[in-house]
Amino acid sequence: MENLSEQLSSLEFCMFLISGATSCLFSTLLATRESPSIFPHTLWLLDKKERLFTASIDSSNSATLDGSTVASEAALAVSTLPADLSLWHRRFTHHNYADVKRMVQHKLVTGLVLDSDNKPDPICEPCIAGKMSANPFPSSANHNRSPLALIHSDLHGPLPIATHQGYKYWITFIDNSTCFRAVYLLKNKSQAFEVFKEYKAWAENQLSAKILELQDDKGGEYMSKKFLQFTAQHGIQRRHSTRNRP
Ligand SMILES: [Zn+2]
Repeated sequence: MENLSEQLSSLEFCMFLISGATSCLFSTLLATRESPSIFPHTLWLLDKKERLFTASIDSSNSATLDGSTVASEAALAVSTLPADLSLWHRRFTHHNYADVKRMVQHKLVTGLVLDSDNKPDPICEPCIAGKMSANPFPSSANHNRSPLALIHSDLHGPLPIATHQGYKYWITFIDNSTCFRAVYLLKNKSQAFEVFKEYKAWAENQLSAKILELQDDKGGEYMSKKFLQFTAQHGIQRRHSTRNRP
């Protein structure tokens, strides 16, 4: 047993090379789920105590599966599903149907043959799920409110290179009613609070109106104790959107 564990530590399990294989599907997990038996020059991969494969261990501690692989055309023939457009679409990680058809028509891929002209289901769930980046915005009653009733704010950056004056971030304040945008440059994120106060003073003075609500993405720069305290003291309601979508 001691001898066996010594062998285990020195073996490179990932190095399964199949002689003559042009393509192969080999599950290391499946092959090693039951402890393989290891001898000085051979490795046995077991399935329910039956010997499934043997591999020869060479002087560089690489194990090469003994035997040969089935040619890829023959392997395709044993597919349990018809090799139609839908199957190839999935095999090509859901590549678009038009391109897959073109690959077949122009024989761009060796071994890619359609043995069924089944029309693919126009609804491919993984494709739809993959392309759905976010739920649609819910319709809201935010429009047509008076100026400064709702301000959306977002902080961007850092820039890969700071400006000459050392600014790396920028913060926007967008009035929901007028879409007027104010932009301030920041040297660091913690300046968000100071510039909000500056924007508030300027905007409220210019428009003779008060900011009623502030919407942000709940980033740390908006959630400091002093920021929260300030907005609470000035009766500004806080709203938070999903990150990166102010
Ligand atoms: Zn798909």
